[in-house]
Amino acid sequence: MDNLSIGILEKRRDAKIKQLRELGPVLQGSITTLKTTCGKSNCKCARGEKHTSTVLSKKVNGKTKSLYIPTDMVVDAKKWVQENKKLRKLQKEISDYSEQILRQYVKSKRAKQENLKLQSLVVSKKQKL
Ligand SMILES: [Zn+2]
Repeated sequence: MDNLSIGILEKRRDAKIKQLRELGPVLQGSITTLKTTCGKSNCKCARGEKHTSTVLSKKVNGKTKSLYIPTDMVVDAKKWVQENKKLRKLQKEISDYSEQILRQYVKSKRAKQENLKLQSLVVSKKQKL
């Protein structure tokens, strides 16, 4: 990506921004299924057939917080978490392109200044002759 022109970099960045606009709802965190026992001695879980519950885990100020996800919302919640991963990937890619555009801009500006210096040297030599 080092020597791409600013124009090409901007085109690629625009394509990523377009993908960003096509994203669905996002949800931060990760979804895990827990196997639990309820403590009742006559329940199936006491015989090894544990209950399952799905939770959204998320770190808040360094602590992991869990949120229960009702069974009929699990599919949606998983989709939103997937979209969030895409969002984070796109965000990084767009930022990388922006950084690259800045670098190329600085590079081309320096090259122009070098050219100007060279030209003025040529001119001043001509004037002396
Ligand atoms: Zn139970």
